[in-house]
Amino acid sequence: MSFRTRNEEESHNHKISRCSYLTLSKITRNYQKDKNGNDISCPTCNSTRILVAPIQRENVFYMLFPFFEKTRHICNDCKALF
Ligand SMILES: [Zn+2]
Repeated sequence: MSFRTRNEEESHNHKISRCSYLTLSKITRNYQKDKNGNDISCPTCNSTRILVAPIQRENVFYMLFPFFEKTRHICNDCKALF
């Protein structure tokens, strides 16, 4: 049993979709920087649109000790991993 009117339901849904849109646009602009705050550039094409590559834990060692795994970066332009 719901006491919500249809209008309330719609404005609630609208808030959610607006919120996830903001989150998405924040992520796409969040290119990686090095520890000094400088842009990281791609060794292949020199682009600074660098993202963190998804972690691949195929190795049992890294499944047990994920903090030993180095962060890998992927170039958003040429998709090179480094
Ligand atoms: Zn590149």
